[in-house]
Amino acid sequence: MFENEYTLIMIKPDAVADGHTGSIIKRIEDEGFRVRAIKYVRLSKAQAKEFYKIHKERPFFNELTEFIASGHLVAACLERANAVEHWRKVIGATNPEEADEGTIRKLFARSKGENAVHGSDSVENAQIETDFFFSRMELVKE
Ligand code: UDP
Ligand code: MG
Repeated sequence: MFENEYTLIMIKPDAVADGHTGSIIKRIEDEGFRVRAIKYVRLSKAQAKEFYKIHKERPFFNELTEFIASGHLVAACLERANAVEHWRKVIGATNPEEADEGTIRKLFARSKGENAVHGSDSVENAQIETDFFFSRMELVKE
């Protein structure tokens, strides 16, 4: 089942504050992902801006980075066959009103901005985002 594709996910501060961390981790396991590394951390505004720098010209950049730095989040590197695409399917559309029934955003997101979870959009960005949160030492496997 594990074919060495990775994705970087976050359980965002809204979902952590709303008490959905356990349910989302259960879903991660039920969907056949293996957790390679995980941490509970609060980002500074500067760290949030670094993580989301690809969006720095977007009108929602300030709001987004304020939100991401507003409380603790859970970041995890997940392994699965087709990890990037499968996680994007499990989380649903950015706007929970447009997300399919049963997706994590449909179930748990507050709004388009405070939308419960992050998922890398490509294998290349998964590597960049994993390197942001985790050191080589934290990702060593048997
Ligand atoms: N976002 C927002 N307003 C928007 C679009 C996006 O606040 O109009 C936030 C939202 O939290 C989203 C994040 O910015 O998850 C990154 O946007 P992206 O388009 O990459 O969406 P995603 O890949 O997370 O579905
Ligand atoms: Mg994105």
